[in-house]
Amino acid sequence: MNIHEYQAKAILREFGAPVAAGAPVFEPGEALSAARSLPGPVWVVKAQIHAGGRGKGKFKEASAGEKGGVRLAKSLEEVDAFAKQMLGATLVTAQTGEAGKQVNRLYIEDGADIAQEFYLSILIDRATSRISFVVSTEGGTDIETVAHETPEKIVTFAVDPATGILPHHGRRVADALGLKGALVKEAVELTQKLYTAFVAKDMELLEINPLIVTKDNRLRCLDAKVSFDDNALYRHPEIVELRDKTEEDEKEIEASKFELAYIALDGTIGCMVNGAGLAMATMDIIKLYGGNPANFLDVGGGASKEKVTAAFKIITADPKVKGILVNIFGGIMRCDVIAEGVVAAVKEVGLKVPLVVRLEGTNVDLGKAILSNSGLDVIAADDLDDAAQKIVEAVRRRG
Ligand code: GDP
Ligand code: MG
Repeated sequence: MNIHEYQAKAILREFGAPVAAGAPVFEPGEALSAARSLPGPVWVVKAQIHAGGRGKGKFKEASAGEKGGVRLAKSLEEVDAFAKQMLGATLVTAQTGEAGKQVNRLYIEDGADIAQEFYLSILIDRATSRISFVVSTEGGTDIETVAHETPEKIVTFAVDPATGILPHHGRRVADALGLKGALVKEAVELTQKLYTAFVAKDMELLEINPLIVTKDNRLRCLDAKVSFDDNALYRHPEIVELRDKTEEDEKEIEASKFELAYIALDGTIGCMVNGAGLAMATMDIIKLYGGNPANFLDVGGGASKEKVTAAFKIITADPKVKGILVNIFGGIMRCDVIAEGVVAAVKEVGLKVPLVVRLEGTNVDLGKAILSNSGLDVIAADDLDDAAQKIVEAVRRRG
């Protein structure tokens, strides 16, 4: 789960990390009083969307002006004008895709005088099964470019979970960033605070880009991106409350109600599969035959008829979907339950695109009989290879 920058900064503040004072704004009329609650004389007006690259982003509407989603305001009038321009407008950044994202919230922050910009992130490294730090002197710009062009400028190290965070980790951060004097002590403290927040809140990623040194020689987290491990959300109701559903894919929200593992993709072939491995294999083989999956969907091991119906409805409601492939291996899951779910869903929502079904395993004959007796226009497939070719071909034929 992702949260907004201002929410992430509130969590960092709670753990004692240095962030500027600021206030979120939901209506243009709130911007002035938010800015008045801050010292000035410079404010930063920041679009709050679940995507990075806002500073370099562009608004779709000409009325939002030429500047990007992070704007320095030198007067209260400017804060007011920027807020009016940005709220409700659509911001396109390197991370939003062409469609962009509507800005429904702003964060007005006390402006900082920047001497240096660094990069610091904490994440779970799957290779070492440890929490790792990624640090670079090249902050502010996107870290992927740095990793690609000057990988030697990125320093990473893992923290041993048995010892937890120690002062030497902080000194390593300071060393990587070339910090001296009082800043070394600040880096040690900051490293400990960020690590503590990361563990306490079950974060998956905590990215500070940029971490800055201010002109008066202090460290400050100027930007903050946090995502949480969904599997641990049950023990953080305060974080679940921060969820902004307007930032999430509607189909993914609907799927989460039925505990379906669903991820929307850009292709045209809707997939309903059981098991993450089989779902990945199905997507691969669709690609192999020249098609593109419209989603990843794992209905899980012991799905009920209701769950299958919900999954099918989510797929058919997607206008991008030009064909559907149901690929089920019945182990714990019974093929007849899948077939009943598909028939029930089609009766409810209709079927406007070709449907290929490949069933195998427990009660496969019963499942196939339910489908063939249903009168639905189902294209039966014998195996995964056959199924993928049939759906790609059916979609191609319809143009
Ligand atoms: P992002 O573009 O979505 O990553 O948003 P950031 O919060 O990282 O802001 C982008 C850039 O705006 C930063 O790298 C800074 O260069 C600049 N910026 C943000 N806040 C301030 C500020 O308080 N003062 C100054 N001078 N620049 C800022
Ligand atoms: Mg940033």
